[in-house]
Amino acid sequence: MADPVKQIRVALTGNPNAGKSSLFNVLTGSHQRVGNFPGVTIEKLEGYLDYQGVRITVVDLPGTYSLTPYSPEEIVTRRYIIDEKPDVVVNVLDGTNLERNLLLTAQLMEMEVELLVALNMIDEVEEKGISIDTDQLEKLLGAHIVPTSARRRQGLDELLDHIVSMCDGQIEVIKNKMTFSPVIENAMEKIVALLGQQRELGSTNHRWLAVKLLESDREVYTQVRQYPVWVKVELVLQEAITECQRLHRTDPEALITEDRFAFVRGAMQECVRLPRATRASLSDYIDTVVLNRVLGLPVFFVVVWAIFQLTFTLGAPIMAGLQFLFELLARSVAPLLPNAMLRSIVVDGVIVGVGSVVVYLPNIVLLFIGLSFLEASGYMARAAFVIDKVMHRFGLHGKSFIPMVTGFGCSIPAIMATRTLKSRSDRLATIMTIPFMSCGAKLPVYVLLAGAFFPPAMAANVMFGIYLLGIVVGLWTAWMLKSTVLKSDSEPFVMELPPYRWPTLASVVFQARMKALMYLKKAGTLILMAVMAIWAASNFPRSSRLDEALVLEKARIEASATSPEVKAGELRQLNSKVQAAQLEYSLAGRSGKIIEPLIRPLGFDWRIGISLVTGVVSKEVVVSTLGTIFSIGRSDQGAAGLSSILRNDPGFGRATALSLMVFVLLYIPCVATLGVMKKEVGSWRPVLLYTGYVLAIAWGASFITYRLALLMQ
Ligand code: GDP
Ligand code: MG
Repeated sequence: MADPVKQIRVALTGNPNAGKSSLFNVLTGSHQRVGNFPGVTIEKLEGYLDYQGVRITVVDLPGTYSLTPYSPEEIVTRRYIIDEKPDVVVNVLDGTNLERNLLLTAQLMEMEVELLVALNMIDEVEEKGISIDTDQLEKLLGAHIVPTSARRRQGLDELLDHIVSMCDGQIEVIKNKMTFSPVIENAMEKIVALLGQQRELGSTNHRWLAVKLLESDREVYTQVRQYPVWVKVELVLQEAITECQRLHRTDPEALITEDRFAFVRGAMQECVRLPRATRASLSDYIDTVVLNRVLGLPVFFVVVWAIFQLTFTLGAPIMAGLQFLFELLARSVAPLLPNAMLRSIVVDGVIVGVGSVVVYLPNIVLLFIGLSFLEASGYMARAAFVIDKVMHRFGLHGKSFIPMVTGFGCSIPAIMATRTLKSRSDRLATIMTIPFMSCGAKLPVYVLLAGAFFPPAMAANVMFGIYLLGIVVGLWTAWMLKSTVLKSDSEPFVMELPPYRWPTLASVVFQARMKALMYLKKAGTLILMAVMAIWAASNFPRSSRLDEALVLEKARIEASATSPEVKAGELRQLNSKVQAAQLEYSLAGRSGKIIEPLIRPLGFDWRIGISLVTGVVSKEVVVSTLGTIFSIGRSDQGAAGLSSILRNDPGFGRATALSLMVFVLLYIPCVATLGVMKKEVGSWRPVLLYTGYVLAIAWGASFITYRLALLMQ
């Protein structure tokens, strides 16, 4: 027989006792040679076999649990894979002990080697009644899996077939990268870019080097430190350490390890069914409830509902306190300002406008605390896992869920968080759903309207309903996009399941303070500016005819022979009548009148129309505009709370309030969100189309809401 021409080198890796040596023996039989790895006293077993005209050399690498450079076994294994570049790396797994074994697999995935998985001890797996979904696991690991039993000599030919065809390029290599926490991924991206500038590092896998640098890997440190690029890399590393401390209260090394555990746990949950756990940890118990097929979704809804109840009920008294303070301020400042115009700017504009937004601070902060609690406790990932199947119905998957939940806080970080989705079509579909996830800025609108028109016990439920509507419309949009223009195959991925943890008080306080400061800053800058603009637009131009009429009427009342009290009352009435007429005459009034025919069917008059236009700047501005416009002509009566003003206004009712909440939920995202969407999507055209779409949806939904609400009254 002629010597085979083709040569393939295969390395066996795996945990100790996974069955590498047994596999090595049954494969190579008597063709074995014992040597040493350079520099260490670790045995190197090398053998070969001829298969289908190919000579396959097999190396039995020492067993390891990890690929850190801490033990000689790990160093040898790593160096062999990097320096000798075997054609195929076979990862031998003990199928009865997958959770621990897969941690090494995750690290091999990071190295981006030609990976093949031998799912060994398959005989015992079957005996113990463990069921493993190998098809799915293949996709998640990005490697073909061959079930083997070295003891029973099962699956050997299939393993060899795979090895040979992987080298021939006959079977498609499924690659799946494992992704780390955003802090790590961000730093990695920067480091990879830097390493790319260093020509000497050209042939090595930069992503892997980046992971290792973040893990403070001695070997890779010394390797990279000799190049000038190190100076910049070190800065990125320092920054990553600070960020990690700030966000996760740990160092990058620990976070990376945790991410790997999360990856493995997620893959296990998805692909492996154990026969009935004999001993389980508390976290496992929680998971059996929370991830349960039947209970999972209800539990999720209860959790979210509870957060809304908290946001509203806990927030209400603090909000009432703030409201009182602002009213007090308005009442005590008004007499200090003799000039009517100045008084109107300060009281109707600044105090009422900005105040109407600031009073919602407690609700916003509570909502954000709720969201960050979900995230930090590890529950959010479980919810994503549970929701995964539901999301599949809409052409999305669980990975889209976290950006969507982030959208309940603010659309901007949520849209940026979609970067964890690898497929462009998934990303676009998710981005288009996010504005429907009602953001924190819309909360004041709901709190105001639900609070004004519904009893306290109902208000939170109304808000919950509004949020649900947003979710339904968002998912429907995704489904429509994914079944038409964004059609694509869904990509394999693992829903990482991080460990459960009590968020530290310090981090909750930190989050809350940051959100509060951000909100106040927005109120003091963007919203203040918008308020001033709205004030100006609703006071100018002034009708001189009205001013003259006012002077004449005033004189008439003064001259009449009634008591001073009656006079004062008549003057007050006159004043608000004239001011209301002035408002209609003003720029804002006229623009409101122009769009009024369009929104009349939704139950909105021109004053609400104005607030919808200004609301595109930012959704809180809807409230401050309502505040400014509805309180014009009333400042003499003392600043009553906006909600009671609305309740007593003939242009407003329950039906209008519901319709307005629905419209604000669904209509155009704020300008900042549109900007970020454009940046992430790449061009304005889809964003403009989308804007048209959301307007149509908002109009339709509000119309239906308004009509139904009228019917039910
Ligand atoms: P290594 O440490 O990875 O080299 O593992 P070994 O090859 O030394 O195997 C460890 C133990 O597992 C030995 O007792 C083997 O007999 C046993 N073993 C290996 N492969 C199989 C298998 O496929 N099925 C069963 N039931 N046992 C196996
Ligand atoms: Mg061995």
